[in-house]
Amino acid sequence: MVLSERQKKFIEYVNKENRKEIDVNDGEKMFKYIVLNLFQLYLLSTKESDKMQVAWNIHSIKPHLKDNIKIWHIIEDKDEYKCLLYKKQEQIESYAKKNQERRHQKRDDFALNDQEWEEVKRYFGYKCAYCGSESKLTYDHFHPFSKGGGFMKGNIIPCCRQCNSSKRDRIFNEWYPEQNTIYDESRKNKVLEYIKSNKQLTLL
Ligand SMILES: [Zn+2]
Repeated sequence: MVLSERQKKFIEYVNKENRKEIDVNDGEKMFKYIVLNLFQLYLLSTKESDKMQVAWNIHSIKPHLKDNIKIWHIIEDKDEYKCLLYKKQEQIESYAKKNQERRHQKRDDFALNDQEWEEVKRYFGYKCAYCGSESKLTYDHFHPFSKGGGFMKGNIIPCCRQCNSSKRDRIFNEWYPEQNTIYDESRKNKVLEYIKSNKQLTLL
């Protein structure tokens, strides 16, 4: 790392500024303090990963605040700065991609498969678990999806389209007793028994 005279002077200047007392309530001074130290850290960083992180921090300053920075010239090698930002961006994207792949993998591991769907339909006699209708069966999330219930064995209950859209993301124990026309004590117990015997952790 070779620093120019101007850069060395800048580093000294920041060291001197840092010895002064700062008023943390003075937003403008605090901003100046942070920016000076970020630029100084950028110049002093010898490890690429460190320099990359500092470059990213500088880059992440909000645009309207960035306009107030008058010391951009202290970063003399603009190509290196841009290159570091580019690398950091790539690193962030690749992390995000890996995370997404991991999440998908996890979901697939737990997802209800065809055989499990067949089993749960058989358990409920190929009828809607809530009203007993024999019309086309749909997947209902017993613990609503929006509240963290997963698409997995132990949380998916077969029910007709009508019950499914009526229940939506409501809690079974609150929704079902209100359904005067379809409510049935033995059906309720069967559902609760099924859930109890296939207890699954919800995603939340
Ligand atoms: Zn139904």
